[in-house]
Amino acid sequence: MMEAPITEIFCSVQGEGPYVGNRQVFLRFAGCNLNCTYCDTNVQISETCRYEQDPGSGIFRYVKNPLSPCEVEELIDPFMNVHSLSLTGGEPLLYADFISELNVGVPLYLESNMTLPDMAKRVKDCISFVSGDVKLPEAFQGEKLNSHIEKTIETFKILRKTDYRDCFCKIVITKNTNSLDVLNVVAAIRNYISCIVLQPVTQFELRPNIRVLLELQNELLGDIDTLIIPQTHKMWGCL
Ligand code: SF4
Repeated sequence: MMEAPITEIFCSVQGEGPYVGNRQVFLRFAGCNLNCTYCDTNVQISETCRYEQDPGSGIFRYVKNPLSPCEVEELIDPFMNVHSLSLTGGEPLLYADFISELNVGVPLYLESNMTLPDMAKRVKDCISFVSGDVKLPEAFQGEKLNSHIEKTIETFKILRKTDYRDCFCKIVITKNTNSLDVLNVVAAIRNYISCIVLQPVTQFELRPNIRVLLELQNELLGDIDTLIIPQTHKMWGCL
């Protein structure tokens, strides 16, 4: 059976995007295939996974990594009344085979950087919600930018919105964002998604100009439902 390194497991509410406020269990995978400039997540693989059994308590116990799907199922079993299980990271698609073996009894909500199309094919039938990021040139650190964008478009196509799966696109906007980059990528994926979420970056020193952001939303609204939603969980200090 597949095993995966997990950073943390806890129950909280979704802090981003159109499902903000919904109660979820979070399964944060370690490791990422990208290295974004504004990344504020610890993606290191550690020997243990921290587990908060009592939501909001700040009291953790530590479980040895890697974990099997059965061990994860047991750990999330006590959490009640959840909308879905958020698969987050790092990059969850690095562990596509592990995800396809999960049997948790609640819908799966994938938070992905959408750059691993071959892995996306392996999970497409078991995911109910896709929160797909687009990494724009200023966030992307690497030489193969064109192939990165092509993989992003391909991954959105594979995980596109259907009758049984929602798929939306989240784009972090910084003061360095070129609106034309956003418009170009949205034009390429708009048929695969239900809406766009423009997320002003949380780091104060990188925040975008408000007028530029509102102009971008206005331009996108001519074509597709577009929301501006910041990270809300950081406002009230929950995980
Ligand atoms: S894809 Fe997400 S986790 Fe990975 S480096 Fe970028 S911001 Fe960090």
